[in-house]
Amino acid sequence: TSGKPNREIPHCDRQSVLALQPLWDFVRTQEALIKSPFFPVLFSFTLYAAFCLPFVALDFFSTRVPALKKYKIQPQMSPTLGMMVLCVVQTIYHHIVCIFPVTVAHWYWRPVSLPALAPDLSKLFLDVIICLLLFDFFYFLWHLLHHKVPWLYKNFHKVHHKHVSTFALSTQYASVWELLWLGFFAAVSPVLLKCHPLTEMTFFITNIWLSVEDHSGYDLPWSTHKLVPWGLYGGAPHHDLHHLKFKFNYAPYFTHWDRLFGTLSHAVSGDGAPAKTPKE
Ligand SMILES: [Zn+2]
Ligand SMILES: [Zn+2]
Repeated sequence: TSGKPNREIPHCDRQSVLALQPLWDFVRTQEALIKSPFFPVLFSFTLYAAFCLPFVALDFFSTRVPALKKYKIQPQMSPTLGMMVLCVVQTIYHHIVCIFPVTVAHWYWRPVSLPALAPDLSKLFLDVIICLLLFDFFYFLWHLLHHKVPWLYKNFHKVHHKHVSTFALSTQYASVWELLWLGFFAAVSPVLLKCHPLTEMTFFITNIWLSVEDHSGYDLPWSTHKLVPWGLYGGAPHHDLHHLKFKFNYAPYFTHWDRLFGTLSHAVSGDGAPAKTPKE
């Protein structure tokens, strides 16, 4: 892995490989940081906090600026400061007592290696999409199982359903069991595809962003589900409806599994008022 970087590029498009080389060269200058056992937990927590922040600001302003309310999926609901603080405290606690030890174990068993060459840009793009599809599939199955088996729901998934109306900081408000499985599904997807470390990082960043956006409680003009055509991607309205109605939309991102299993439900358009507030 060390010594002179091998710049020979076999088989694939030279232009596409070279596109990411400067970025990858920069990432490699941070090798000491990336190879530290603290890196995964710092990386995931920092990104999570950074992605939540704009939505927290939006939550603050949308209660004061009426024009912003129209972007809220459930305009009548706003998270209180107490709800947000509770989520932050729980997230920090879980990162320290659970995610940190697990990522250190992962770091020990699967040491990070940083190859000299950057991945091919089109391959990176394709791999990230496949990773997202795999993650979506794994979580769909896990999620469905944890709704269909009452014992599993009660003990492991109910915590995440505390919030009937989602907000960014409620994304990781979940049991340790659920967080560990989410982490496992995210970690295993790029391993299965033998992804380049830069692809793996891009997937993690995308995955954290999409999970926060899913729970943001906002349907913004640039939201991912508006950018993906043909309703293939459910996004925030889709997942918010899962929190509201429980029996629909088990896949976190895409809509094909729910469509196939007959569990797809589309968000109520217009004023976004919920049809019925579930009791459990
Ligand atoms: Zn659920
Ligand atoms: Zn959720």
